[in-house]
Amino acid sequence: MNSQDQLWDVAVVGAGIAGMSAAIFAASKGLSVLHIGNGSGLVFGSGLLDVLAVHPVKDSTVHEDPWHGIELLRKDEPSNPLALVGPKAMEVAVNQIMEALGKAGMPYEPSTTNHFVPTSMGTLKGTFGVPTTMTSGAKAFENKWPTLLIEIRGLREFSAAQMVHTMGDKWPGLRFEKIEFPDSKGVFELYATHLATALETNKTRQAVIDIVRPLIGDAKAVGFPAILGLSESTAVHKAFEDALGVPVFEIPTMPTSVPGLRLKHSFEVAAAAAGVFRRVQSVVTGVKFDNDIATLTLQDATGNQEVQAKAVILATGRFMGRGLFADREKVREPLLDLFVEQPESRENWHSRDFFAKSGHAINRCGLLVDSKWRPTDAFGAVVWPRLYAVGSILARQDWMRQKSGSGLAIGTAWAAVSAMSDDFGSIGGV
Ligand SMILES: Cc1cc2nc3c(=O)[nH]c(=O)nc-3n(C[C@H](O)[C@H](O)[C@H](O)COP(=O)(O)OP(=O)(O)OC[C@H]3O[C@@H](n4cnc5c(N)ncnc54)[C@H](O)[C@@H]3O)c2cc1C
Repeated sequence: MNSQDQLWDVAVVGAGIAGMSAAIFAASKGLSVLHIGNGSGLVFGSGLLDVLAVHPVKDSTVHEDPWHGIELLRKDEPSNPLALVGPKAMEVAVNQIMEALGKAGMPYEPSTTNHFVPTSMGTLKGTFGVPTTMTSGAKAFENKWPTLLIEIRGLREFSAAQMVHTMGDKWPGLRFEKIEFPDSKGVFELYATHLATALETNKTRQAVIDIVRPLIGDAKAVGFPAILGLSESTAVHKAFEDALGVPVFEIPTMPTSVPGLRLKHSFEVAAAAAGVFRRVQSVVTGVKFDNDIATLTLQDATGNQEVQAKAVILATGRFMGRGLFADREKVREPLLDLFVEQPESRENWHSRDFFAKSGHAINRCGLLVDSKWRPTDAFGAVVWPRLYAVGSILARQDWMRQKSGSGLAIGTAWAAVSAMSDDFGSIGGV
């Protein structure tokens, strides 16, 4: 099938968590979905799905109950997109995506609260969705189990010694051992993806198990950097637990991470299973609207093509995703030149204190939307009746400080697709 040969119900632009989720939600409602963009940004994620851990950011108050956090946000920041989605819809949306990712090979522990997962920095990350390969880390810390961390010589950006140094006072039974990965003698630098792939072979896995088993001693859990398999992580994790006889957990590592690669792959499998048609190597370089139809110009290595859709969901992200662009004067939305809410002058982009706990005004700039998640101009008028915006491109949120990246992306995707599918009756959709 050629994507330019049909009139799509929806074109989703952008393949981060917001675009992936919007495409899956829309296809699950029976809409025909063309999804444009490369999900390469997904690999920066840790695999952990944050809903809301911190509010208010100025006090760095951490919440165990993300739904209560969103309720508080509704009072304090009623126009924050997380507050507009609300706790109930957020819970439904995030659980649906976790279920879809689980079916696609990346299972998440069923959850009702935030969990505090030990990270490679020696910090605890408050997060909602935890891959099953990581859950025992949170339990080990919570119960202060004597725990062995495994460091691998030559694996960059992961130091179990550093973790023990940073967390040792809060976790007295935590210790580490440094091991040599099989067949890596003389190799100066090791890469997590190579080790993860190697652990999918019986021979290498057994060799690592044989090295680690005698080191366990009194440990009630064993933590590894997140290298336990690439596409077969559930099976590799289980094989380690069966052989070592104690709970085994992965520790999220720095980007680009193995769990980030798993997340990208699982989103792609879930989108295919939902019936989404993807144009992975294309970017959208222009969008024109007439009364009922949007015409999008797609660019890839073969040149330009036009595709048509009855609705468009913009999920192009913030500065890193290139959904927003800051020049010397203003923050702009480069694809459609949409109105971007922002401080009046560049001088007010940042607080005087770079480390200000409340963050910087530029981190809260973005698109304004109406109650149906449609971008508006400065005066509240919608740009086109079936243009929607979701994810981190939206204004009045600071996902990084609020620890709400995935929740914002998934929740707004859910809410916008619900509003859009309600509207579809009036334009002859499904
Ligand atoms: C280093 C890092 C670590 C993170 N860790 C976590 C974590 O632990 N937990 C968590 O919940 N979240 C985490 N996040 C946040 C999360 O990954 C997302 O960045 C966030 O949820 C925003 O998602 P998004 O889909 O709105 O935007 P993005 O992820 O930025 O995606 C936007 C996409 O749109 C594409 N795009 C832009 N313009 C076009 C165009 N014209 N045509 C086609 N495609 C286009 C971009 O290429 C990009 O793929 C992390 C993010 C980063 C950067």
